[in-house]
Amino acid sequence: MSNERRITIIGGGLAGPLLACLLADDGHDVAVLEQRGDPRAAGYEGGRSINLALSARGIEALERIELKQQVLDEAVPMRGRMMHDRDGNRAFSPYSIIPGEAINSVSRGGLNCTLLDAAESRPNVQLHFGVDCSIDVEQAGVTWTNSDGTSVSRSADLVVGADGAGSAVREAMCSHGSIKARTDFIDSGYKELSIPPGQGGSFQLENDALHIWPRERYMMIALPNADGSFTCTCFWPLEGEASFEEVSTADSVMDFFQVHFPDAVPLMPDLVEEYQANPVGPLGTVRCSSYHHDDTAVLVGDAAHAIVPFFGQGMNAAFQDCLRLAEAIRDHDDLSKALVHYDRAQRPDGEAIAEFSLENFIEMQDKTASRLFRFKQRIRKRLNRMFPKFYVPRYNLVSFTTIPYSKIQKHLIVRQLALVGVLLVLVVVVKLIILRIRGTI
Ligand SMILES: Cc1cc2nc3c(=O)[nH]c(=O)nc-3n(C[C@H](O)[C@H](O)[C@H](O)COP(=O)(O)OP(=O)(O)OC[C@H]3O[C@@H](n4cnc5c(N)ncnc54)[C@H](O)[C@@H]3O)c2cc1C
Repeated sequence: MSNERRITIIGGGLAGPLLACLLADDGHDVAVLEQRGDPRAAGYEGGRSINLALSARGIEALERIELKQQVLDEAVPMRGRMMHDRDGNRAFSPYSIIPGEAINSVSRGGLNCTLLDAAESRPNVQLHFGVDCSIDVEQAGVTWTNSDGTSVSRSADLVVGADGAGSAVREAMCSHGSIKARTDFIDSGYKELSIPPGQGGSFQLENDALHIWPRERYMMIALPNADGSFTCTCFWPLEGEASFEEVSTADSVMDFFQVHFPDAVPLMPDLVEEYQANPVGPLGTVRCSSYHHDDTAVLVGDAAHAIVPFFGQGMNAAFQDCLRLAEAIRDHDDLSKALVHYDRAQRPDGEAIAEFSLENFIEMQDKTASRLFRFKQRIRKRLNRMFPKFYVPRYNLVSFTTIPYSKIQKHLIVRQLALVGVLLVLVVVVKLIILRIRGTI
């Protein structure tokens, strides 16, 4: 066990309170500063229910702070993808050959509140909401103004940026010149809609699947909530044909959905009102040249590596960062060594999952609709069944194991090369057999 430290975490979203629990359990004195009000008092996201897919990496982290069972008890397991075509036909494709292996739909607001409760229950964690802070990364100092106007300063050994994609801590590190960072936006954005529960709180679609309406440049997905509703997310281009800009009037929204997502329309009684009321969010990838500044500041989660959400891994990756950072601080007496170790371990993973997520954007939008893709999926599952130790599909390595993303990326390159090698050998052998039969050799 290393020295007890004074640590200030900026951001009380998903990663912030989880990290606070892990660090507090190691004896550190932790403060979490969140710019919004306390969601347990104020309600979350204006009451909209937004959900996330929780998988192995997130579950491992929740287990460390003894929240695994509580969170899974409130989650809805999704065993596979349900594809909806334009005629309303559905095709189910399980994620795994292992019975019971599933990703889990959890409420973002519910999970946030559970994590804040867990952090608050630790005597060495203080939570502050509604704060507007300025950060000195060089001195690990933070000054903030409370909602009542009083000014407070806190000096610490370490400031952690768990403040999401638009991180102020990352900005302060960039301004200081210690790191470089960039955000690459894609030309699509997202908008959340909903399918309410049916009669008696029943689900109006299969509740054990992640539903996808893939339509090439645009798509909609829906994840089940425990109350029988589904949260739908439209991922569409921001401008041009079939875009949020083009589809905006009540008539155009209804016409567009009738043509492209006809089986969803009868399930969405508030479609037009929600579509016009809910905002369009941007989607981008954050890349940093380093995740830390000397021994005084460090980034976790979206602050370090916001990714596009097409692998359902942003929160899972953020939770894995928290585990690795807490371990690094525990294992190194010297904070600077701990942060270097964390950066070397996690940055390649952040880069790998960013690439996987961009690749999955193409796969989910477009390929899931094609017969060839589904044929390949069946071959992959057959190979997985025949050689479970040697062939596990990428989706399963990412979602159902905690193997570092960068190791998975290397493994996939080696496997691809080996496959090409085997195919080449097969071609040569077949050619030799043909020549032999013809009597040429
Ligand atoms: C449409 C969509 C779908 C997604 N689906 C999934 C999914 O299925 N599975 C998955 O694993 N991930 C998913 N993600 C990604 C996931 O939401 C993020 O990766 C995750 O929220 C990152 O957690 P975080 O704590 O790093 O950041 P956040 O959850 O964004 O929390 C950051 C917190 O910091 C606060 N903050 C910001 N600036 C300041 C400041 N200056 N001072 C104080 N506080 C500040 C914010 O108010 C916020 O509470 C999805 C993302 C999107 C956009």
